[in-house]
Amino acid sequence: MPRVLAFQETDRKTGSSIKDRDRESKIRCPRCRWRPERNSRWSCLCGHTWNTFDTHGVCPGCAVVWRETACHSCHQWSPHEDWYDRGGDDHPFR
Ligand SMILES: [Zn+2]
Ligand SMILES: [Zn+2]
Repeated sequence: MPRVLAFQETDRKTGSSIKDRDRESKIRCPRCRWRPERNSRWSCLCGHTWNTFDTHGVCPGCAVVWRETACHSCHQWSPHEDWYDRGGDDHPFR
């Protein structure tokens, strides 16, 4: 997966496709650093399946707020906020 190249292509002057990619690059599992794909889906107790990062953890089916998000790779639950990498990818900045 050419993920590394995506960072080099990031350009503030360009349009929404980069913005989308940039958004994705800032989301990863806080435990194993797995990154959700655009087609990654989570399922709610109500039966709805969706990409939880599109709605910031809110189920579009029943509007319940998922404060924790399960990883598809390591299957651990982490606080939804912790999935957003605020300090850039390789620069821990707290
Ligand atoms: Zn639901
Ligand atoms: Zn994980």
